Amino acid sequence: MHPVDQLFAIRTVPVLVPLPAERPYSYAVPDGMAVVPGSIVQVPLGPRQVAGVVWDGETDAVDPKKLRSITKVFDCPPLDSAMRRFIDWVADYTLSPPGLVARMALRAPAAFDPEALIEGIEATGVAPERLTDARRRVMESAAEIPIWTRSGLAHAAGVTPSVVDGLLKQGVFQSVRLAPPPAVALPDTTYGRAALSPDQAAAATALVARGDGFSTTLLEGVTGSGKTEVYFEAVAAALDKGKQVLILLPEIALTQSFIDRFHARFGAPPAEWHSDVPPRRREQIWRQLAEGRIRVVAGARSALFLPFQDLGLVVVDEEHDPAYKQEDRIFYHARDMAVVRGALGGFPVILASATPSVESRVNAADGRYGHVRLAGRFAEAALPDLSLVDMRLAPPARGRFVSPVLLTAIGETVARGEQALLFLNRRGYAPLTLCRVCGHRFQCPDCSTWLVDHRLRGQLQCHHCGFAVPRPEACPECGTLDHLVACGPGVERIAEEMLATFPEARTILLSSDLPGGARRLRRELDAIAEGEADIVIGTQLVAKGHHFPLMTLVGAVDADLGLANGDPRAAERTFQLLHQVTGRAGRSGGRKSRGMIQTWQPEHPVMRAIASGDAARFYEREIAERQRAGLPPFGRLASVIVSANTRREAEEYARLLRRAAPEDPAIEVLGPAEAPLAVLRGRHRFRLLVHSPSRAPVQGFLRATLAAAPRPRGSVQMQIDVDPQSF
Ligand code: ADP
Ligand code: ZN
Repeated sequence: MHPVDQLFAIRTVPVLVPLPAERPYSYAVPDGMAVVPGSIVQVPLGPRQVAGVVWDGETDAVDPKKLRSITKVFDCPPLDSAMRRFIDWVADYTLSPPGLVARMALRAPAAFDPEALIEGIEATGVAPERLTDARRRVMESAAEIPIWTRSGLAHAAGVTPSVVDGLLKQGVFQSVRLAPPPAVALPDTTYGRAALSPDQAAAATALVARGDGFSTTLLEGVTGSGKTEVYFEAVAAALDKGKQVLILLPEIALTQSFIDRFHARFGAPPAEWHSDVPPRRREQIWRQLAEGRIRVVAGARSALFLPFQDLGLVVVDEEHDPAYKQEDRIFYHARDMAVVRGALGGFPVILASATPSVESRVNAADGRYGHVRLAGRFAEAALPDLSLVDMRLAPPARGRFVSPVLLTAIGETVARGEQALLFLNRRGYAPLTLCRVCGHRFQCPDCSTWLVDHRLRGQLQCHHCGFAVPRPEACPECGTLDHLVACGPGVERIAEEMLATFPEARTILLSSDLPGGARRLRRELDAIAEGEADIVIGTQLVAKGHHFPLMTLVGAVDADLGLANGDPRAAERTFQLLHQVTGRAGRSGGRKSRGMIQTWQPEHPVMRAIASGDAARFYEREIAERQRAGLPPFGRLASVIVSANTRREAEEYARLLRRAAPEDPAIEVLGPAEAPLAVLRGRHRFRLLVHSPSRAPVQGFLRATLAAAPRPRGSVQMQIDVDPQSF
């Protein structure tokens, strides 16, 4: 306790509030109020009341005259100490304010208050008296679903609850009693246990044998090898010990099939946690989880910050997936943070993948992670026959993108009543539009990128900032009509090519920017699985986890696409994506299946590895390469992006930072140079790369640099990304 507090005999505690605060603030505890570290409390902050968490450690000294008191303690289980240490750890590692990290753990404010959970509000149809900006936001959010909790609506609209209260007083909303949350069905670990193959049984035994304490195990096996069934055994073992379980999945909003499988295995679905879950449901989940009533969550990366009371296992499925990296405000990698969560909570972590990240492969080889493998595919399902289509020898017809060999294979597949999948990781119709007369290229006014032609929407769009204009007929530069040409393919263009070539076939285009969102995609994925399509064209959405029994041909239209960008991770990513997408073929036994990869560089190690199925050699090469260059996981990187309204400001500040960096023999600083997207949303960007070839941590160096540099001024902003995924 601080001496001043002792003098006045006021008890103070540190409270972390969900703001970009570097440290917890000090608050007085009123007489008779009981708080412990982890208690969720309401505190005054300026003119507002906010929810915060009582933190650990000493309080900072505060002038007793300025000291304010905790308003109330919510009737809510406290965040446990593993969770609090996790928040501190993530903040420290990512150089983020702990308050912002805590905010991720406090995302469902109504959940703290049982009263708020049964008090709902609904719109009455009365229009607000004075439509301020804040009120307009509330009205827009309210239109999405009929019934809200007060704080849930405030949160969704990004306003304080008092704005909602004002509207309630005006009669724009009225109170309603909410139905109590549905009882949570508990998983039954013996419910639908599958008979495991000997290979699976051995793997499951090895997983479970790692024990209840902290360990990380890489579960590796080709797509269709039955990894899910294997880690379900570890899930069952944790549940049998009364523990809670978290399963992380990339693109969870689309993986209905996973939820169904879990349900079939455990007799109850897991709680789903991702951005498409409505706010009220999220509040219920948060609460029920904190009370220990929910046992299993299947979620996106943000589920790591849920208030588990007794977490005993985290599974990270498709651990190599780039979707695990969050690059917004707090830059963190959910796979790595899951391992940290396990270490702090003292429980095992399982990373599952057919194509592990190079990082996890190296950790497994070094013995830091356990390594459990499944040899082949489950049952008689054979891996597809993979071949390269050398585009130099068999080019497609002019203006077309599918080579004659692949076309023939598609025709044969459809004729047999089977399905073909064409994969191209590019949304829209064409990545570039130019004027044939004057050479004008359509560029985003706010970003340094071309506009992508989206014919289905009739727009040219920027994929980075959302800018869109109706597709023009005339060139804005020279005014010539009807001489604009689309350059290169996107999935819409491939769909057009298929419709023209196979007019009788039922063709489905799957892309995240078709109207209808996740719900429609789920429906279409079901339809494909039911056999209601002959030819499917899709982006990487189709590569993930889906099970299409009739799919016997997969064609990668432009397999080289990801290799072109010069990123050191490009080879790894391309390998993973191609393996995964070709793995969609032949997932049910009996039928012969094929994967055909169109490439202009058949000699490239990635293409050779895919065609030969020799993943081991690919990893060896890739690992040796990274080791030689001191790249992750043999070295460490952080990127610092400085952005500003003008190029000059951004560059100047980036140079100031560079000069402020201390001399450190273990660390080299590259740049500043223009960032890969030199202009984004109208902001000019410069980048410094901090490289530690020897694996020495970079955080201390970054902190010293920031401490020595002047604070950013004017429009200058800075983003720090420790362990950037592309660099
Ligand atoms: P992976 O996750 O390794 O790609 P899955 O777990 O999806 O593989 O398994 C592939 C297919 O085999 C799925 O359709 C799954 O239902 C089936 N399968 C796996 N193990 C078993 C088992 N022990 N009994 C019955 N079916 C199984
Ligand atoms: Zn843009």
